[in-house]
Amino acid sequence: MFAIDSLRIENRRLDGGAPLFTDCKQPKISFSLQNDRRAAALRSAHYALNGWKREISDPLNCFYDGPELQPFTRYEITVTAEDDAGQVASRTESFYTGRLELPWEGQWISDPSYRVRSPKAPVPMLFRRRFTLDKPVKELLIAVTCMGIYELTLDGERVNDDYFAPGFTSYKHDLQYGCYLLRSLPAGEHEFTALIGGGWAVGRSTNVQNTNQSVSKLSADRQALLCELRFTYADGTTEVIGTDERYKVTEDSPWRFGDFYDGETYDTTVTPEKIQWRQAAPEKLKVHPRITARYGDKVLQHERLKPVSWSVAPSGELICDFGQNIAGVVELKVNGRAGQIITIRHAETLEEGELYVQNLRSAKQTLTYICREGEQTYSPCLTYMGFQYVGIRGAAREDIELTAIALYSDLEATGRFSCSNADLNKLQSNLIWSGKDNFVDIPTDCPQRDERQGWTGDIALFASTACFNFGMERFLGKWLLDLKNEQKLTGSIPFVIPERRGVTPAVTTSCWGDSCILVPWAVYLSGGDKRLLRRQYDSMKKYLADVGRFAAMSLPQYGSAYIFALPFQFGDWCAPYGNIPDWFKRGPWVGTAYYFNSCRLMVRIAEELGEAEDCAYYMALSEKIRAAFLRCLTDGKGLLTDDFQAGYVLALHFGLAPEEQRPVMARKLWELIKENNVCLNTGFTATPYILFALADNGFEKEAWQLLLQDKNPSWLYQIRKGATTTWEGWDILTEDGQIKEGSMNHYAYGSVGDFFYRRVCGLEATEGGYRSFRVKPIPGGGLTEAECEHTCPFGTIRVRWALTEGRFRLHLEVPMGSVCELNLPDGQSMILESGSYDEECVYEP
Ligand code: BGC
Repeated sequence: MFAIDSLRIENRRLDGGAPLFTDCKQPKISFSLQNDRRAAALRSAHYALNGWKREISDPLNCFYDGPELQPFTRYEITVTAEDDAGQVASRTESFYTGRLELPWEGQWISDPSYRVRSPKAPVPMLFRRRFTLDKPVKELLIAVTCMGIYELTLDGERVNDDYFAPGFTSYKHDLQYGCYLLRSLPAGEHEFTALIGGGWAVGRSTNVQNTNQSVSKLSADRQALLCELRFTYADGTTEVIGTDERYKVTEDSPWRFGDFYDGETYDTTVTPEKIQWRQAAPEKLKVHPRITARYGDKVLQHERLKPVSWSVAPSGELICDFGQNIAGVVELKVNGRAGQIITIRHAETLEEGELYVQNLRSAKQTLTYICREGEQTYSPCLTYMGFQYVGIRGAAREDIELTAIALYSDLEATGRFSCSNADLNKLQSNLIWSGKDNFVDIPTDCPQRDERQGWTGDIALFASTACFNFGMERFLGKWLLDLKNEQKLTGSIPFVIPERRGVTPAVTTSCWGDSCILVPWAVYLSGGDKRLLRRQYDSMKKYLADVGRFAAMSLPQYGSAYIFALPFQFGDWCAPYGNIPDWFKRGPWVGTAYYFNSCRLMVRIAEELGEAEDCAYYMALSEKIRAAFLRCLTDGKGLLTDDFQAGYVLALHFGLAPEEQRPVMARKLWELIKENNVCLNTGFTATPYILFALADNGFEKEAWQLLLQDKNPSWLYQIRKGATTTWEGWDILTEDGQIKEGSMNHYAYGSVGDFFYRRVCGLEATEGGYRSFRVKPIPGGGLTEAECEHTCPFGTIRVRWALTEGRFRLHLEVPMGSVCELNLPDGQSMILESGSYDEECVYEP
């Protein structure tokens, strides 16, 4: 059997689902192959697009180079491949182009009589356009964007299945638009509406943070709409209705309120005849972004969860538990009375039977729904919440039915890990959930409190784990474009991307700043698309130049210009010991280690891009940093001048430690762990690497011991405490039943997931896109089996091992086009081309 398993345009898999619209003029064409013959090779391949035929030499890096694509056109693409046995496979899919620079036939419109007054959220704005069709329409294409977030209806039916579109971008620079294709519309009267909530552009989430400062209008004074209804009639003629003064607008709709942090208010008693419509007017935006067809992933509905239990809080509030902490919304079915007011509050946990809301800080996460008479269904569309529990007032248990709906970006599920240890499986499930819950259009720190921002450090740490489990190329590609655009001229990277007014200084700092290198590198390793490295390359260099300037400032204190301590470092951020000042104090070690690591990554990136001079430059620079680190921050013999776990972890894992000092450092690290009751004592910046630092330096058993620890602080402590997502702090729920203020849904510590793939199963890409990869499992910890699956651009890699009767047995599947170096625990090593393999060796634990 020989087949084309997947065909992708612009890194989006085409499989007959919702159509892809792209404004890319030379879209990337990539595909993966399936072949049941071992070591099968590709003899030739070509694509045909719109009559243009071209050879494909690399199934991962092929770009359309034919005649100019036309706007709003459906294209069929056929890829045909032949293997070295002469078998032929072919696959045809279709995609659409977007505007491709075609000017908009509509203009920006808004309600000039409305201005956001309160420091909170703007009132949702509803636009309406009625039109009459003289003849039937064969196809209607809606191209739409807004300042805010939209929900569209046509003749009362919802048009878009996505949430919070056009998504969160750096609106100063870029704005996406969505395209929706509807089939056949009869002649006669029709009504199109666009509801625009504040979302990110006008909402309080980007403008003000839990203070009463006046709205700081980062992007827009009020919501605005830009839309085209593009009709193709049955007789082949076309017509476009663009946004203009013929639209009506109101703030009197049933949506009384909508905000990401605070929730939504919907009043069914606001019936159409009560609504005062005004004429919409052209709007001058304060920002002038490039407007491009969506290049990120849509936020869609995913899992639907039923309540697992109900209770009544001492205060009388009806409590419902969904059994899983999620980001999303509820769907309420109720048998209501006209005017009945139902409120639904959301929280991550309970305290003495009541919703615990302190960790939401100022976010209200509350829905207020005013009923009409009879059976009705309501679910919000202008907000989302981080929650496992909801508290309901104003309705009796028997009158309502609740479903929780997880909302997150439509990322391809590309990974699976499981093993014979149930706690580790639960940890994997939790970190996957924290990933989903924090991939709501941008990579956020948390989905519940009044933050939900694109904190750079968090994704810098989680990107690698995320890339095993999800197809991140479009999602992170979108975010990285914002990062590049919002980088300051000096090279510093704002703490959160897209930028948030007031709370996001752009101070050059390690790890958070290194996101500009760590994130694209992780995406490149997993996806193999060099365009991303190229696009981000200058941003990486600019950042490191800035770090270099700050490092030079440490000369008076350290006698070296390569210690990255100033101006500010998060250091051992969120470590279980001490407090913020104690974490900051570790800044010089952490900062310098990250500086070194980023230079080393730049060597590899420059190599990939053929930038030989840069390659040499960063290599030389990294050696200077290493020398400075060893001279100024260690005793020169392998001990740090300040003993803390994170320092040793980073020195070992990033490769700062010279060969002869590694054993000393590794031993010291293990001693520090032992002194701490065999518990880790690391914060954000070193936790992802601590198990690697042990396992790769002769402390494999000890790495397992630490991974399986369930005393606080440890990964499994959270599991023992019933966590369903990964927490921001190690013991948000303390051993004695207290709750420590903090998010229960942060993915930074979920970065342990990397170890599951890379060491437990041993799977690591050695070239971008898994063109070549290594499999070198490290069995241990009493596990009898473990397995992982990862869908890379070449297809699905499967690794499964089991220990039986003193033997290590491994099953491995290598996709066609990639090559694997397999290393067995007994030291045997072999190179395997595509195919399915079963190998074994003696194994003594
Ligand atoms: C966020 C983090 C972030 C940190 C940086 C927090 O409030 O939730 O995850 O990285 O601030 O200081």
